[in-house]
Amino acid sequence: MARMLSRIRKLFRPQVTAADDGGLPRPRVVPRGEHGITPSRISPAARRVLEGLHEAGFRACLVGGGVRDLLLGREPKDFDVTTDATPEQVRKLFRSARIIGRRFRIVHVRFGREIVEVATFRANDPDAVNTDADGRIISDNVYGTIETDALRRDFTVNALYYDHADGSVLDFAGGMADLEAGRLRLIGDPDVRFREDPVRMLRAVRFAAKLGFVIEPAVQEAIFRQAPMLEGIAPARLFEEVLKLFHAGYAVETFEQLRHYGLFRYLFPMTDALLDEEEQGFPHMFAIRALENTDRRINAGKPVTPAFLFAVLLWEPLRARAQALQEEGLPEAQALQAAASEVLAEQSRHISIPRRFSLPMREIWLLQARLRQTRGKRPFRTLEQPRFRAAYDFLCLRAQAGEQELEPLCQWWTRFQEVDEAERERMTRGAGGGKKKSRRRRPRKRRGGTRKPAES
Ligand code: ATP
Ligand code: MG
Repeated sequence: MARMLSRIRKLFRPQVTAADDGGLPRPRVVPRGEHGITPSRISPAARRVLEGLHEAGFRACLVGGGVRDLLLGREPKDFDVTTDATPEQVRKLFRSARIIGRRFRIVHVRFGREIVEVATFRANDPDAVNTDADGRIISDNVYGTIETDALRRDFTVNALYYDHADGSVLDFAGGMADLEAGRLRLIGDPDVRFREDPVRMLRAVRFAAKLGFVIEPAVQEAIFRQAPMLEGIAPARLFEEVLKLFHAGYAVETFEQLRHYGLFRYLFPMTDALLDEEEQGFPHMFAIRALENTDRRINAGKPVTPAFLFAVLLWEPLRARAQALQEEGLPEAQALQAAASEVLAEQSRHISIPRRFSLPMREIWLLQARLRQTRGKRPFRTLEQPRFRAAYDFLCLRAQAGEQELEPLCQWWTRFQEVDEAERERMTRGAGGGKKKSRRRRPRKRRGGTRKPAES
C-alpha cells in the first residue's frame, strides 16, 4: 500500500525543467551499478530511515559527506538523509526521532548508537532567505525541492544525492567530475557564498586536508579576500568547527592550510601573532607535535580531548603574559593563575571554550610549575592530581618540541611512575642518601631567584 502511494505521488510530482523553474538544473543521473554505492555500504540505521520514508511515500535521498565518501571508496563518518517530508512528518514516522532546532530545523533519528540526521529539502530563493548587511545568512528555514536544496549546498562534491528509490546518484552541480578530478569547487560565486556563511572557508580547508583535494583557484582567492568575515561568527559555532578541523585525523595538514590562507588568526589570534614572529620556532614545533599526536591517536581509535590541544595552542601566549606579570612583581603561581584567566577570557571572544575543557586546561598549565618539584612529599601529591597524566604528556611534548632542558625532568617523571614505592622514596630524596636534609633543601633555594615564570 505504502509503496503504491509512493508510486502515485511520483506520477503526480511536477517535472522540473530548466525552462519553467527559473533555470534550475536538471541533474545528471548516474544509474545504479554505474557508481560504487550499494545498499550494503550504507549503515543499517541510514538504510532504515531511507526505507521508512520511502514506505510512507516520501522521497528519500542520502546527501553530503556520506555520498561523497562512499563514491570515493572511503568510510563515511556519518550519513545525512534529505527528504520532501517536513520535520514533523519525519518525527511521526520514527519512534526515536527528535526535532533539533539550531539554525535549521532537522530531525535526529537514533538507532542504537547511530544517529541519522534528516533534513527537509530547502530553498535557496534569495527572497526567502534572510541575510544581514554583510550578506550573511541569518535564517533559511524555507522548504524547497531537491533542485533548490542542491544549489544551496556548499561544494559541488557535497551536493550529490543517492536516491533510495532507484539507487541512482543525482548530480546537479558537476560534483561527479570534481570528485574525479579531486577538486573542491563552490556552487555559485565564491565571494557571495563565503559572505553568506564564512564558516564555508573553514570547511574548504577541512575537506581539502581530509580528501587531499585541491581547492579551485577562484575559491582560493576568495578565501584570502573573505577571511576577515570569520570575525563575525559566533564563538560557540567556531568551537564546534575547530573540533571538526582538528579531530578528523588530518590536523597537521589542516593547521598548515589554515595558516596559509590566513584563517588561523581568526581562530587563535594570540597564538597566530607568536607564530608569525618565529617562522619555525618553538610555538610552531609545539603546535605541530601536539597535532601529530592528535592525528596518531585519532587514527588509532584512541580518545582525544580538546583541552590538551587548546592548552598547547595557548601555552605560549599564557607564558608571555605570566612572565610580564612576574616582572611586575607577582609570585609565579599567582602570575600563572592570573595569566590563565586573561588568556582564556581573551580566547573566548573568538572561540568559546566550555568550562569542562577550560578547567582541565588551567590544571595542565598550573601543573607545569609543580612538575618541577621532585623532592620531598610534593611529587607524590602531584602524581595524585586528576590531570597528572595530561600535564606529564604536556611536559614531555614541550621537551620534544625544543625545550631540551626539560628532557631530564620528563624522564624523571616517566621513571617515577614506573618504579615501586621504595624506589620512589629514594628518587625524591636524591641519589645519595646520607645527608638527606641538606639535599632536600637545595633545589628549593635554587628556585627562589630569577627563573622565568613557567619556563620549565
Ligand atoms: P563530514 O564528512 O565532515 O560529515 P559533510 O560534507 O557531511 O562532511 P556536514 O557538516 O555533515 O558535512 O554537512 C552535510 C552536508 O550539508 C554537506 O555535505 C553540505 O552539502 C551541507 N552543508 C553543511 N554545512 C553547510 C554550509 N555551511 N553551507 C552549505 N552547505 C552546507
Ligand atoms: Mg556529514
